[in-house]
Amino acid sequence: MLLTENREPKTPKILRKNAPTSSSTQLRLQNAVNALGIDKNPKKQMQKLELTDIDVAGKRVLARVDFNVPMKDSKIADETRIIAALPTLLALINQNAKIVLVTHLGRPKVGETADRERLSTAPIAVALSQKLGMRVAHVSDCIGDTAQSAVASMQNGEVLLLENVRFYAEEIENDSAFAQQLASLADVYVNDAFGTAHRAHASTEGVTRYLNPCAAGFLMAREIYYLSTSLENPARPYVAILGGSKISDKITLIENLLEKVDSLLIGGGMAYTFFAAMGLTIGNSLVEMEKLDVAASLIKKEGFSDTVILPSDNVIGRAFHPDTESQVVDKGDIPDGWQGLDIGPGTVVAFGEQIAAAKTVVWNGPLGVYEFEKFVQGTIAVAKQIAESQAVSIIGGGDCVAAIQQAGVADRMTHISTGGGASLEFLEGKPLPGIVALTNK
Ligand code: AMP
Repeated sequence: MLLTENREPKTPKILRKNAPTSSSTQLRLQNAVNALGIDKNPKKQMQKLELTDIDVAGKRVLARVDFNVPMKDSKIADETRIIAALPTLLALINQNAKIVLVTHLGRPKVGETADRERLSTAPIAVALSQKLGMRVAHVSDCIGDTAQSAVASMQNGEVLLLENVRFYAEEIENDSAFAQQLASLADVYVNDAFGTAHRAHASTEGVTRYLNPCAAGFLMAREIYYLSTSLENPARPYVAILGGSKISDKITLIENLLEKVDSLLIGGGMAYTFFAAMGLTIGNSLVEMEKLDVAASLIKKEGFSDTVILPSDNVIGRAFHPDTESQVVDKGDIPDGWQGLDIGPGTVVAFGEQIAAAKTVVWNGPLGVYEFEKFVQGTIAVAKQIAESQAVSIIGGGDCVAAIQQAGVADRMTHISTGGGASLEFLEGKPLPGIVALTNK
């Protein structure tokens, strides 16, 4: 899936002179957007239509956003996803579109009244309204007469948030009639929800059959740009770092990366399944017994031994507990009753040499049990090495992002992906239905 081409960008102006918000609100918004790094527009254009390529003035735009924010006691616990959509929303407002926003929120059981209350998008409209400094209307359905009449009464430059699209089973089923009803609310489609682009749902894929043009929002464009650059034409040396608990989730990713990268650094729990497959002593470390044969066949794969660097030492603990007794041992020396919970200092140095020389680094998954202070050190050290390197750094996966934030270097990464599952599938080389469905230039 070749998605980018080498041309100079049309840099999106996030905040323009005629923005409807006050200057202090604009400044606050600009700072929030800058903090996420999504104003730094990539130096390339995509082969899919982008917001900057289409004319939306006076048109009804169905904008698929990812407002799947964590909720606690009916309050939004983290607004990052709302902030991430602001550049696209502000551009649409500035161009005097009628902006009809659609998102899912959580995993409601269809027809369950408690879920309809708990997972209503109404509080998101309030939060967005505060961010934009303007009214954001909310409508209690996402299709049908109620939604139609709410859209019909919109003026240019206004924003309307539809009710949770997953209140209908037809959304996940990608039902054509449902998609057509959603599409009938608008003239043009913009998808800025990278986090759900790996799902062929009615609001991410189905609607594109009934709307034209279908363009990528700024956040989506940025994700596509960085992830496809790392797949298609990465600056070399290209180093991938994989961690996390299990190899079972990442087998396709390992296979795909093995063909592309110059080195693949593996840490985290998944390293021990490889060690077990090599016949090394791993004590009580995490091991996926049913994946030993997969690990063994990966080890035999051409290029594995030249490309993959496994930990040469580990920080081990007596128990899976934050205060457990710990020590550093070489690989293969983990005694019975102990388990490997972090990469050791020798491994940090070896990984650091690769990272310092790299021009592109892709990282997915923590290198140890980063939730425990004693076993987060390897992950933090690697995060800092990446921050200090000259490499283009692309980070994916919620755990990794949390560790990078803990290390205080999030703003020194080139791109932090907003979609865990979507970025994993992208890096596995799978076409993402929500991206494939967008209009080609
Ligand atoms: P994943 O969801 O597969 O990306 O894995 C993330 C989880 O892997 C985190 O919760 C880490 O605590 C866990 N993890 C990383 N290293 C280890 C390890 N050596 N042993 C057990 N769990 C680990």
